[in-house]
Amino acid sequence: MNRINILDDLTINKIAAGEVVERPSSVVKELIENSIDAGSTKVVIDIQDGGKKLIRITDNGCGIASSEVDKSFLRHATSKIKNIDDLYDLYSLGFRGEALASISAVSKLEMVTKTKDEPIGTKVIVEGGKVVSKEPVGTHNGTTIIIKDIFFNTPARQKFLKSTHAETINISDLINKLAIGNPHVQFKYVNNNKSMLTTPGDNKLLSVIRSIYGKEICENLIEINHECKYFKISGYIGNNNIYRSNKNLQHIYINKRFVKSKIVLDAISEAYKGIIPINKHSICFIQLTINPASIDVNIHPTKLEVKFENEKEMYIELRDILRKTLLSVSLIGKYETYDKKEETKNILVKENSNQSKNIYENKEFEDIKVIEKNYERPIDSFMSFNDIIKSENNTE
Ligand code: ADP
Ligand code: MG
Repeated sequence: MNRINILDDLTINKIAAGEVVERPSSVVKELIENSIDAGSTKVVIDIQDGGKKLIRITDNGCGIASSEVDKSFLRHATSKIKNIDDLYDLYSLGFRGEALASISAVSKLEMVTKTKDEPIGTKVIVEGGKVVSKEPVGTHNGTTIIIKDIFFNTPARQKFLKSTHAETINISDLINKLAIGNPHVQFKYVNNNKSMLTTPGDNKLLSVIRSIYGKEICENLIEINHECKYFKISGYIGNNNIYRSNKNLQHIYINKRFVKSKIVLDAISEAYKGIIPINKHSICFIQLTINPASIDVNIHPTKLEVKFENEKEMYIELRDILRKTLLSVSLIGKYETYDKKEETKNILVKENSNQSKNIYENKEFEDIKVIEKNYERPIDSFMSFNDIIKSENNTE
């Protein structure tokens, strides 16, 4: 009774997997992030049955040297940091060295990898955390990781997996986010042998947004570009023609990492006050570049939240620059020309009907509202463009 056990590595990894590997989409996230950290310019994602049966990620990144392959599956084994001080200068997505250890503890994993310096690659099979085989293999530079039978040895976890459809939506959602955060990388996503998404990888954010969300969203975006003492911001924000009833289309990235930051979300809501209806949420795709020394990315298990050193200043600067950018374009004027273009637009929508079909396969698109006619807009609840300018000037 009350004997204290020191857990063995396999048990530790399985427990840790509970935090990092919640569902197939978490595996997809960790693996794609590794591909991005490896400097890949192309990442191919293949999934079957919502990732429950198979997840395959192929990249053209730096690969892992044969002598290092075994180490990559050990817990706390990472090539991205050496000590805690490195977190103050961190630009990689990973740094904890947990993902491969956790994923391989709860699945059947196969990795094929090759660096440019080695003439031949390595193929390794790991099942439930144990290396089953390792052999040389001819392959291209880069890494392919195949995950089969996720949670085969943790039945409790397996029971909580959602339907194939729900898991697929989670994965699609995640790939969209990673693709938008990394326009320099070409993403190809295939689900049950059906091509779902190909991004151009041309380093243009607008091209990625267009390939995911289509033309109409792109036509209603305003470019934002600004640098201040605390951060650099770039990207696109929606004008007053587009908004939705949840925040799913508020894409915020800090140093290329997708985050849900309350400070940033609040600054966005405040900036759009009076510009879009109350209880509606704007659309934005913004990339904040912040000195890693002034943020803490290590406060959340999946790194979804970050902590800022200068929270208040960040909030004010951000709110003001968003607002200024919004008001720098003639919102109401744009609205009128948009209205006139309606006929042509309807034709375009019809021509794009394939895209529309695709759109509804993704939960992100459920309730995008593109206002097409003046009368659909509760005009009274809005300030006019001039009113907004006036009230802004008054508060200054
Ligand atoms: P982390 O990403 O936190 O370093 P992981 O467990 O995800 O930890 O990966 C362990 C190590 O394996 C990485 O630090 C990296 O060196 C190597 N690695 C994993 N995936 C890849 C990949 N796709 N390409 C090259 N190296 C990889
Ligand atoms: Mg990683």
